[in-house]
Amino acid sequence: MWEVFAVKYAENTGRRRRNHFIVQDDLHDTPHPIFYYVWAARRGGTVVVFDTGFARELAAPRGATYERTPAEALAAIGIDAASVRDVVITHFHYDHAGGIAAFPNARFHVQDAEMAYATGRCMLHAHLKKPFICEDVTALVRALYDGRMVFHDGDAEPWPGIRLMRIGGHSAGLMSARIDTAEGPVVLASDAAHFWETLAGEPFPIVYDMRAVLEGYQRLIREAGGDPNRVVPGHDPAVIRRYPSAGPGLEGVAVRLSGPAS
Ligand SMILES: [Zn+2]
Repeated sequence: MWEVFAVKYAENTGRRRRNHFIVQDDLHDTPHPIFYYVWAARRGGTVVVFDTGFARELAAPRGATYERTPAEALAAIGIDAASVRDVVITHFHYDHAGGIAAFPNARFHVQDAEMAYATGRCMLHAHLKKPFICEDVTALVRALYDGRMVFHDGDAEPWPGIRLMRIGGHSAGLMSARIDTAEGPVVLASDAAHFWETLAGEPFPIVYDMRAVLEGYQRLIREAGGDPNRVVPGHDPAVIRRYPSAGPGLEGVAVRLSGPAS
């Protein structure tokens, strides 16, 4: 069985509800912090990392506080980024695909639809292009030409017990993952659900396909056996509070999303 972890590398406590929800049902535009994570699954000597985060220099212009590189965060739970062989890029947005250089020995698992989206006609539209950074995408194209890319078209199970699911919606080829653990399935939503509140049907404002966004919430909950608490949202500060620390001294840095490996 897999162990699953979330590690935090940055936060933005200056964000407000209007930044995170399309529908504003009330006039109380209260503070609504966002945290930035990458995730890892480990079983014996096999490690799969999910996403690579963004670079330090991008934090200040966005009002974010950068705490550590994703590689440093992974090192805190004993994962050496330079040795990782498999990284799932859930989608190519800057805060998920910006750090592939820290994984020089990895293959990058991506959806056909995300590569096509990030390198195709939709990037002619400023609104759709906004969450992408050209250098991140070109680094991924370089990895492709170096033979370091694994394409998936829809759902896939590249490792027994880890099912990649193409959800789409927020980005054309957005992937989530359902991971089998000793304590049942853990569903890493990535940005198929930014916050637990999002899962209740309140979409984040960046949308490629609203139908896929809304049906994606239903799929995530279904994959989690009907329990939204077994879905791990991509950016919710509560992730770091709700789950146990991954070890001594790692409070606020890394949490264990699963039971111990067995
Ligand atoms: Zn994100």
